[in-house]
Amino acid sequence: MLELKNLHVSYGKSRVINGVDFSMETTEKVALLGRNGVGKTTLLKSIIGILPPAQGTLLFEEESLAKCDSYERSSMGIAYVPQGREIIPDFTVRENLEIGGIQLPTNVVKDRIEEVLAYFPALETHYIRKGGVLSGGLQQQLAIARALMPHPKILLLDEPTEGIQPNVVSEMAGVLNKIHEEMNVGILLVEQNLKFAFKICDSYILMQKGQIVNSGKREELTDDIIRKYLTV
Ligand code: ADP
Repeated sequence: MLELKNLHVSYGKSRVINGVDFSMETTEKVALLGRNGVGKTTLLKSIIGILPPAQGTLLFEEESLAKCDSYERSSMGIAYVPQGREIIPDFTVRENLEIGGIQLPTNVVKDRIEEVLAYFPALETHYIRKGGVLSGGLQQQLAIARALMPHPKILLLDEPTEGIQPNVVSEMAGVLNKIHEEMNVGILLVEQNLKFAFKICDSYILMQKGQIVNSGKREELTDDIIRKYLTV
């Protein structure tokens, strides 16, 4: 279980996350929604350990994350696919995946690469090409595959559909559902594309000004709520 208790996060003096309480099981798939600038990315970065909280508690599988850096959080089972993908452009697909598996014993890396590539067959064709020359869709697949390398228990995804062609987007929903089912990975998905988000997620939390202002099951997200908190 991932638990956030009264979490506050700041950039310098500017408070961006303002007392977030949220918990999810690693069996769940939850959409994290909200307009631009409400703090969604900041919240994910704080969970993965890039931004330390100013106040509050973060727990994973009942252990405090306070003293754990990003590397330790990854070992504990938290994986992060950042907005913009951040694959290493000069590394090949294989090398990017090896980086994702850096914490694995070297003798299992090859098998693990095969396991994750089974979900992204298009990447296999590009195995020895450099990450930087791949299309946006392939780079996104590579970023997800890389995050899956260390056998995570929960996957935090930040706008994976941004700048991706529609046919790749609809395939990606199916692949993420399959990964959830077969690899037992929970999903916390930041997404502007509601149709995509709810092909995957059964529930949502909705942020405004650094706070969670609404949450519920997929079918509870009414047009009124969408107009109030999501329509630009
Ligand atoms: P979202 O993901 O919901 O679009 P962000 O978490 O990216 O929102 O940003 C929340 C707020 O924090 C915004 O007002 C943004 O301008 C501010 N912010 C984001 N990154 C930084 C940063 N590195 N330094 C200072 N302010 C930042």
